[in-house]
Amino acid sequence: TVVTRFAPSPTGFLHIGGGRTALFNWLYARRHGGKMLLRIEDTDRERSTEAAIAAIIDGLSWLGLSWDGDVVYQFSRAARHREVAEKLLAEGKAYHCYASQQELTAMREAARKEGRSKLYNGLWRDRDPSEAPAGVKPVIRLKAPQTGETVIDDQVQGRVTWQNADLDDLVLLRSDGTPTYMLAVVVDDHDMGVTHIIRGDDHLTNGARQKHIYDALGWSVPTMAHIPLIHGPDGSKLSKRHGALGVDAYRAMGYLPAAMRNYLVRLGWSHGDQEIFTEQEMIAAFDLAHIGRSPARFDFAKLENLNGHYIRGSADADLIAALEQLLPHIAGGEQLANAMSPALRDKLLAAMPGLKERAKTLVELFEASRFVWASRPIDIADQAKALLTPEARTVLKSLVPELEALSDWNAAAVEGVVRAFAERQNLKLGAVAQPLRAALTGRTTSPPIFDVLAVLGRIESLGRLRDQAG
Ligand code: GLU
Repeated sequence: TVVTRFAPSPTGFLHIGGGRTALFNWLYARRHGGKMLLRIEDTDRERSTEAAIAAIIDGLSWLGLSWDGDVVYQFSRAARHREVAEKLLAEGKAYHCYASQQELTAMREAARKEGRSKLYNGLWRDRDPSEAPAGVKPVIRLKAPQTGETVIDDQVQGRVTWQNADLDDLVLLRSDGTPTYMLAVVVDDHDMGVTHIIRGDDHLTNGARQKHIYDALGWSVPTMAHIPLIHGPDGSKLSKRHGALGVDAYRAMGYLPAAMRNYLVRLGWSHGDQEIFTEQEMIAAFDLAHIGRSPARFDFAKLENLNGHYIRGSADADLIAALEQLLPHIAGGEQLANAMSPALRDKLLAAMPGLKERAKTLVELFEASRFVWASRPIDIADQAKALLTPEARTVLKSLVPELEALSDWNAAAVEGVVRAFAERQNLKLGAVAQPLRAALTGRTTSPPIFDVLAVLGRIESLGRLRDQAG
């Protein structure tokens, strides 16, 4: 059975590219009825933090990507890593290297001058350990093949070949007894039963190095798929100057997890020209063969449009729930959070069909919903103020008593009154509707104005109109 894994290093937020890697691993596992494991690569004790671990777990949960079994913490497996290094040493497949810092620096210099990618010159590879300098703690290096080539049949990159003459004898265990990343990854992937390694192509050459370790151990090498990194709209590697990098930032900007997932799945993978996928559809269609070899470019406008699509397609009650969850994370959100009540929730529910048509993000939805929960006198934006000319205020003043006379307050009834009023006054409907919108919502755009009147109800609507009537 298929076993994939997501193996982030907890040194910051969950990068959006990491989110995509996790998604691909998750989809591949689900597609094949397998498992996706989560391994936190926390061996770098200086840089790993609890907050970063929490951010990874939080980000994955938000994206709806669940992993199977317990989280594996790489650092906790250090003894096992050491044991494997010692085993290779005992079998003569690894050796103690006593090279000093100066010697290593000199080797690196020489390699640089001669344009060689291999940095270590094999100084201790075949040397008699009895020559070891006293008092120096050695590292353990892998006795990597020196001739021939290493080949990886990568599921995305195709067949990739390295000359072994270019690949170093890797350090497996540092002189303080701690394992290197290269050793830890191989031992963990093997012990966890990983069958497919799907990760960023910045790890491609590591794949070749890791193959040397697998081979030395006589372990079978998992299938590898190295996916191109995400680039920004300008074609350079996605970086901070392109915009948000962390999954948490997209959440705070008001993207829905389903939209984000749909956006990410199409970032580097395609299924004909299908753009929109339900969860079931993406699981059924996902494969490694259709991951592109060239980097996908992040397209913020496309993400927004997709999010708008998901917002329009969401149930009104779900959007309110999503909005409520987001409130603590957005500017001004606590206002609505404090005002929330069953009655207000009903009002928001009534307004939602009109609101969700226009919003591309939950933050826009929040802003657009402001008129529903704003308290009198409501804040009128400058553009809306410009509509409330003295004439317009007079129009509102004459309209108020007619609305007041309505016995039944609903969208159709207020529409009847407003249309008849405009006709009698010889005004275009817009000449009444625009000041109405400005006075009721404080904005120049809103859901259809009769819906606004219906949502706000008689008392609040008339109150707001009187506030602005001349
Ligand atoms: N921990 C590595 C990283 O975050 C990934 C290692 C791997 O996937 O093999 O880049």
